[in-house]
Formats: sequence, structure tokens, C-alpha cells
Amino acid sequence: MRTTARPALSLLAASALLVACTSGASTTAGSTALPSALASSTPAAGGSASAPSSASSSAPPSASSSAPDGTGSGPAAEVLTPVLGAVDDSPAPVTGTDGRVYLAYELYLTNATSTPVTIDSVAVRPAGSADGAPLQEFSGSDLLARSRVIGATPSAAAPTAMTLQGGQVGVVWLDPSVATPGDVPAALDHVVAAGFAQAPNPLVPAAVTETIARTAVSRVPAAVIASPLSGDRWLNGNGCCNAVTAHRGALNPINGRYHLAERFAIDWVQLNADDQIYRGDKTDLASYAYYGAPIHAVADGEVVAVSDSLPDQPPGADPPAGSLQVDQFGGNYVVERFTQNGQDYYAFYAHLKPGSGSAAVTVGQQISAGDQVGALGNSGNSDAPHLHFHVMDGPNPLASNGLPYVFDALTMVGRAASPAAIDAAAGSGAALPLATGGPTGPRTDQMPLWMDVVDLQAAQP
Ligand SMILES: [Zn+2]
Repeated sequence: MRTTARPALSLLAASALLVACTSGASTTAGSTALPSALASSTPAAGGSASAPSSASSSAPPSASSSAPDGTGSGPAAEVLTPVLGAVDDSPAPVTGTDGRVYLAYELYLTNATSTPVTIDSVAVRPAGSADGAPLQEFSGSDLLARSRVIGATPSAAAPTAMTLQGGQVGVVWLDPSVATPGDVPAALDHVVAAGFAQAPNPLVPAAVTETIARTAVSRVPAAVIASPLSGDRWLNGNGCCNAVTAHRGALNPINGRYHLAERFAIDWVQLNADDQIYRGDKTDLASYAYYGAPIHAVADGEVVAVSDSLPDQPPGADPPAGSLQVDQFGGNYVVERFTQNGQDYYAFYAHLKPGSGSAAVTVGQQISAGDQVGALGNSGNSDAPHLHFHVMDGPNPLASNGLPYVFDALTMVGRAASPAAIDAAAGSGAALPLATGGPTGPRTDQMPLWMDVVDLQAAQP
């Protein structure tokens, strides 16, 4: 299991455990999949008018991209901002297993001039607040690790700065956190410091600091769900937060905008008694003891899609490049719609064992939390058996907005020692060491974080 995100668009160069697309092959009930999610403010087919994304997508990016307006009655001051900022999907708070309340989202920066600009730092602040430490700030190598310049040509030399050529767009992945739900600001500002090697014109200084891209914070609560798996020592691969994992980096241009359906997706693999992901022949599905594990519905709901036509991949390597169509990346899968607090959510269970989904459920079927929806497999774009699971605001696993969720109960065993340790466990069968002094014990209503090792219990139907 690879943990590092690739710098290219996931749609075009997906990471091994990355589910980038399943739209075309779905048997999505009652909708035409692709046109249904044209904009984050338009609920996907099957969603309600007050779907989570609708509530969380507030002002249009262009309206919030200028400097914050004043509090007086007159028009806002006009501030020249050669770097434009926008947030397409307003963040929704979610509590992680470290107790922090995270706001995970993306900031798009555009160089509105014709000369290169280097982004020196990006800071997140509560809207209207100029005092105190920012909620999150990146500069230097940290900013490089948290950002991607769209259209940048890969080069042998690693970039040393986030530089946007004239007209170029860059993305910064942000996930500020606060101590309690009560500390979540109503809105966020972004303070961007940038410099031009050559001032683009007399109106623009060589160095600028802008406060831009005010975005409201969604008040829609994270979905509270049961675990889709049961058993001890499940490892969270590629989940949120505090890094741009393959899932968070899956920035897919679809239907005229970027979609990040996998923002909170997790690839689940289970450690055996020796803390290995597999034992023996890496290319044999039988070496992965958890292969075929039952996968359970996370909530009462309705099955809206079942796709079950693909074989398992041989484990141990990525599927050959070009061997999968875009709509086959998720392998065999089930999508379930469920409702909480008047909001529709969609649960996506992917890479299922061939035949297991269609044997368990059918489109239109009402199911209960804990019902089996399939078995863990290795179909689609997968190099080792795992369950890819995420929650989104529409039925299309690709053209949706990824939403946060929490498990009603789980038990923390610990955390993997490092991303490299996960790669070694997946790559060579090494035992996975856990970080010393890591968090342990039972939790309620928390989202598993990247690299968590947890004991899980599905609902009892
Ligand atoms: Zn995945």
C-alpha cells in the first residue's frame, strides 16, 4: 500500500489505493450520473435541496476572493489582489481520534498577472481576526508539501518554492484544527504573502500580503455512522488529516470543476497477529488474511448503485497502466444513501470481491446498519486487498463532494510509526511498528485519522 500522493491529477495517474472514478459503470438508481453534480451548490440527483454540500458551499468563490469587506455600511474597499483566492467546498468540522476538530478543505490560488509569482506563505485565520496566531500556516518546504501547481511540468529537480507562472493556478490543502466544536469559527480568511521577482506593473508591488478567499464554515454535522468492518487492528491508509494523502490529493476535473469526493476516504487493511499486512507470497490473495472480510452497511439506508463486473487484480503490483477505464478504478462497489438530520449522505464501499456485492444487495433495496453489502476484495485500481470507504454528497463516487464522518464507536490501538513503515509493511511484508506512547482506548463519534490502527465493530443488524 503506497502512502504518498502522486503529483499528477489522480484521474490521470491514480495512486494504487486511490479510487478515482466509478461513475460510468454504475447502475445508479434514478439519475444520470455525470450531469447530476455540475456544481457544489447543486445537490446531486437523489440528494435533497439541503444536501450537505449545498449548505457548506456558501458565497461564490469570486465574491469571496477579494479582501474582506468592512463592517460599515459603505462598499468594501477596493484592494488590488494580483493573487486571487477561492474555496470551492467550504469546510465542515469533524472530530478526529486525537480529539481535535478539523476543517479539511482546499484553497485555489490564481496568479492574475502575466509574470511569475512565488507564494511565500499561506495562513488561515478566523474571519476578521488579525490578532494572535493563525489557525494554520504553511511556508517553505511545508507549503510545497501541502500544495500543487496545476499544469507544472514534472522536472528532475524538485521545486524549491511554490511559484505560479502568469495565469497559473495552485492548490493548497488545508486542515486547521481547534480544540472543541465551540472553537470553530463561523468563517475563515486566508492571508497570502507572495512576491514577484519583477513587479508586473506599477500598481503591484514586488511583495504583497493579501487577505482573501473568505469562506463560511459549514454547520452541517459530520455523519455519525457505524464501522463498515469488524475485527481488530485495522489500519487507516490514506485517510485525513495533516497530510496530502493519495485520497486528499485526488483532485478530479469533472463537469467543469474540481471534485474531491475522496477527501475523507480511507483504505482499510487489517494487520495479522504478527502486525503484517500479508504473510508469504505477496502476489497471492490468500496471503492477506483479511481478504474476503464481510463489509457492512454503516447506516440504515437504500442501495442506489451496485457495480459488480470486474475480477480481482493480482495483488502486489499496480494494474498495468491503461488496463482500466476511468469508470473501473473503483472496481466492484456499492453506494448506499442514508439520511441524518434531514441531510442525504452517500456511503461508498469499493474494490469489492467479485460477486459479493450483487449477491448481498440490489439497487433500490432498503438495508439496515450492519447488513452485509459485500466482501473485501481487490478489484479495480488496487495493488492489495483493501476496503476503500468514503462518504459523499451525491451518488456518483467521482463527481461528488467528499464529506466528513465519524464512527459511533471504535477502539484506538495506536498509530503506525511512520508513512515509511506502512510502505515497508505493504511492500515487503514487514511487521508494522506502532508509534510509542500513541493514543489508545475506546472512542465515540470520532473520525479515524491517517495511520490509526483501530479495533472496529460493525453494527448488529
Ligand atoms: Zn482508496
